[in-house]
Amino acid sequence: MSAATGMADEPAPDRGHPLPAGMRGQGGRLDDDPPPVEWLNPDSASPVLLLCEHAGQAIPAQLAGLGLSEGVIDLHIGWDIGAERLARSLAVTLGAPLILQRYSRLVIDCNRPPGSAGSIPEVSDHVAIPGNQRLGPEARAQRKARIFDPLDAAIAEGFARAPRRAAFSVHTYTRQMHRGERRRWDAGFLCRRDLGAARIFVETIARARPDLTLAVNQPYRIEESGDWFIPRHAEPRGLRHSLIEVCNDQLQTEAQVALWSGLLARAIDAVLRATPGALGR
Ligand SMILES: [Zn+2]
Repeated sequence: MSAATGMADEPAPDRGHPLPAGMRGQGGRLDDDPPPVEWLNPDSASPVLLLCEHAGQAIPAQLAGLGLSEGVIDLHIGWDIGAERLARSLAVTLGAPLILQRYSRLVIDCNRPPGSAGSIPEVSDHVAIPGNQRLGPEARAQRKARIFDPLDAAIAEGFARAPRRAAFSVHTYTRQMHRGERRRWDAGFLCRRDLGAARIFVETIARARPDLTLAVNQPYRIEESGDWFIPRHAEPRGLRHSLIEVCNDQLQTEAQVALWSGLLARAIDAVLRATPGALGR
């Protein structure tokens, strides 16, 4: 199926094997697509809100796997490897609400402004994404409405449900991009305005683990044209914040995930202790 004609030409469901009502989509179609938003600890009144935009690898059935070769969706371009496990562990440790996004960043990147170049990438780390080539405005709008908008609304809801003093988005990156430099950092903390929180992360984690290589604003920087959560949600609310980036080779085992979850929880605690009230209130 061509990606441009997108979601219109679905095969008819197999009527010979009726499924329970809960497994049917609109119009009686089979609908195995998960909802884009998943909450953990939704009722928590924690002052911290956690977010993981690149947690999932799902692709809407109508998009036929985006035409990707086998295994591509499992690479770092398909999702943030290890980020979901780290974010879940951190949410449990902190007792904080966590919002997870279930679709692959290749369907629509929920941390990029809709319409920006990286929102629905035609190429990611030198891999062409067949299902994203020459997409028309309707196909783009459909992905935004189905995935980006519900997550954006959930983030706003997360801030409305209880007074928050801080918000952190959990991401991972890969050590070596195709034809790129080897990244020496084990983790980075990204921000524009809240440099103080990023420094507290680096200092707190370095005290516990001086062997780790940590940085502020590496391996990426927050940009108005390329980021969503920090410019559109965290900064305008005057909260302590950081976009947490951990190298995915640090999260290959449960023990590593537990270690990083503990380090980040300790750092978030330190950020809160350094913040008597919400900034700007
Ligand atoms: Zn990410």
